[in-house]
Amino acid sequence: MRMTTGGVLSLFNGKDGEWDAEVVEAGKRGGILVCQAQTRPLQLPPDLWLLFAPIKKARTDFIVEKAVEMGAARVLPVQTDYTNADRIRGDRLQAHAVEAAEQCGGTFVPDVAALERLSKLIDKWDPARRIMMCDEAEVGQPLNQNSDNGPSAGSVEGPWAILIGPEGGFSPAERSRLRALPFVHVTSLGPRILRADTAAVAALTLWQLQNGDWR
Ligand code: SAH
Repeated sequence: MRMTTGGVLSLFNGKDGEWDAEVVEAGKRGGILVCQAQTRPLQLPPDLWLLFAPIKKARTDFIVEKAVEMGAARVLPVQTDYTNADRIRGDRLQAHAVEAAEQCGGTFVPDVAALERLSKLIDKWDPARRIMMCDEAEVGQPLNQNSDNGPSAGSVEGPWAILIGPEGGFSPAERSRLRALPFVHVTSLGPRILRADTAAVAALTLWQLQNGDWR
């Protein structure tokens, strides 16, 4: 923004990788950049969404930032039965996503969806996208007790989503509905109850390790 003619900056658009571009015209309201050479190929994250219940502002910002760094393809704030927030600043969160992508040398910015009720989202859910539901009710249950214990049971190809509940956890109604769905895989994040923001990072780590692009 403070650059003048002749300056070179990095550009990425989520499609063409990262490019060096030269400022050939710089005005108050706009300018012209000319792409010179690709400096990095496009690196798309795995087809992994992060569904989380928004919490306090700074922690919500943190979750979006970390989701980008950890390689989520899409971030979906959801309103659960025990979610306090009824509004989020979508533009602000999207700006955070852009900043996080810039910071970590990403060439792709995940879309931050508008806040939606979890129940509505589930009504229209594509069953081909499995959900790794992180449920603190699993605490104390041995990990992998069920052969069907989410991605930790082994690498499972295809689209996935991680679901993290709010500070108040999931309601009994949500828990019973979700657990009964064939595409929902309930997972423990270990014997300690984590804060939602920590849980999001931990879940992304586990998924990436098992299924993602960390290999
Ligand atoms: N209020 C709840 C804790 C909620 S923690 C309670 O006291 O029991 C917020 C969210 O983080 C949970 O809904 C869950 O999605 C996730 N989470 C935290 N710790 C977890 C764990 N050990 N296993 C699985 N999920 C966990």
